[in-house]
Amino acid sequence: MSTAIVWLKTNLRIHDNEPLIKAIEQNDLIIPVYCFDDRQYSITAHGFKKTGSFRAQFLLQALTDLDNNLRQLGSGLVVVKGNTADALLQLAIQYNTIKIYAEQEVAYEELQIQKEVALKLRPINCKLEVFDTNTLYHPYDLPFTIADTPDIFTPFRHKVEAKAKIRAPHPAPVAIPSPALAPLILPTLSYLQLQPVETDDRAAFKDKGGETHGLKRLHYYLEDSQLVSTYKLTRNQLIGADYSTKFSPWLSIGCISPRYIYHALKGYEQKYGANESTYWVVFELLWRDFFRLMMGKYGTKLFQQNGIARHATRATEHNTDKLHRWINGTTGVEFVDANMIELKLTGFMSNRGRQNVASYLCNDLKLDWRYGAEYFEQQLIDYDVCSNWGNWAYIAGVGNDPRSDRYFNIKKQADQYDADKHYRNLWLK
Ligand SMILES: Cc1cc2nc3c(=O)[nH]c(=O)nc-3n(C[C@H](O)[C@H](O)[C@H](O)COP(=O)(O)OP(=O)(O)OC[C@H]3O[C@@H](n4cnc5c(N)ncnc54)[C@H](O)[C@@H]3O)c2cc1C
Repeated sequence: MSTAIVWLKTNLRIHDNEPLIKAIEQNDLIIPVYCFDDRQYSITAHGFKKTGSFRAQFLLQALTDLDNNLRQLGSGLVVVKGNTADALLQLAIQYNTIKIYAEQEVAYEELQIQKEVALKLRPINCKLEVFDTNTLYHPYDLPFTIADTPDIFTPFRHKVEAKAKIRAPHPAPVAIPSPALAPLILPTLSYLQLQPVETDDRAAFKDKGGETHGLKRLHYYLEDSQLVSTYKLTRNQLIGADYSTKFSPWLSIGCISPRYIYHALKGYEQKYGANESTYWVVFELLWRDFFRLMMGKYGTKLFQQNGIARHATRATEHNTDKLHRWINGTTGVEFVDANMIELKLTGFMSNRGRQNVASYLCNDLKLDWRYGAEYFEQQLIDYDVCSNWGNWAYIAGVGNDPRSDRYFNIKKQADQYDADKHYRNLWLK
């Protein structure tokens, strides 16, 4: 009998999950595992939490849902805490496992953990096998290597759209043979040294973590409401759940796969017709792929102040007072403050808001952009290492923007996107 471990990280789903499918095909018994690594709950270089309460709560909901779904197929979820490599080694010994299946990482810290796991397993002849599960386009299907990926989005998109195909999603397994697994025990927020989450009725994102909820949202946004047919017209709005897809929190921990979304969209287009809006969701998902490839190409550079810039970067100031006013929404610039208060109280902010507050921090406050990126890392319910750091570097003028002087005129933006002040009044009054 061969027993395999499936180490689940940001692929917390049953559908379109290659490591899970391959493990089932190649083994008799499967142990699905999730690890709470202490490092993911530590304090960052600039004093923020690496994971804040909003994201942790969403993750706990997603793990509960995953355990339920796994149990319906005859399995369950084992949750371990501490040091991932030690915990997986112990499980591999306990179950006499010769292979662990997992997703391929691209960012530095996640890759370090992946490398540690592979090294720890070697003395017991247990192999770590990794799969690319996270993107619309499989990296092997691209018309260039990761190292040769164009640095500018538009040529990247043109090449990809002309020459690559998006694979069909893997079907969900119908059964998962596993030994009897103990009931799920999750850490609490207080164990993770996090405050309880207070809900805010004004939140644009009120949904729960988990594949079940992510798939329900997909169905709602496409079939039930057909909102996707007007996405391009509404995506820059600021209030409520429906101006954009809100897929990002589920995508960030893999409760839903981008390829599954793509194929659902194609099905929708066949039934109801394609238009610029239905295409634009794919266009945005391509940005997500792009930032992941850039992380693969440039690695730790995307966490450094100069990013990937070849030009000298602007001088920045170290000013904790300005930073805290930005964080707390007390800068006096109402459009910035409303967005920052929304982020603080709900863990979410629109894309329009993110661009404006990021530009304000870099261009107006002249602070080091990495403070902003780290605060977002703590606070965002949809935090994704590649999308967050890639977008921040882009706006700071040290990333993949062909223009190094992009500046958001906050007054103009507020006049254009919040002309009637509904958004500012919602968060400031
Ligand atoms: C400074 C800054 C930080 C950001 N940090 C993150 C982050 O940590 N995690 C994250 O998922 N997105 C991040 N974004 C991108 C974007 O703001 C969010 O993906 C989007 O607001 C999520 O809402 P939605 O799912 O309704 O998006 P929609 O507008 O409905 O877009 C559909 C999907 O496309 C992808 N997408 C859209 N815009 C972008 C983009 N600019 N970059 C990459 N992918 C995109 C997302 O997966 C999103 O779910 C950031 C943007 C900025 C400017």
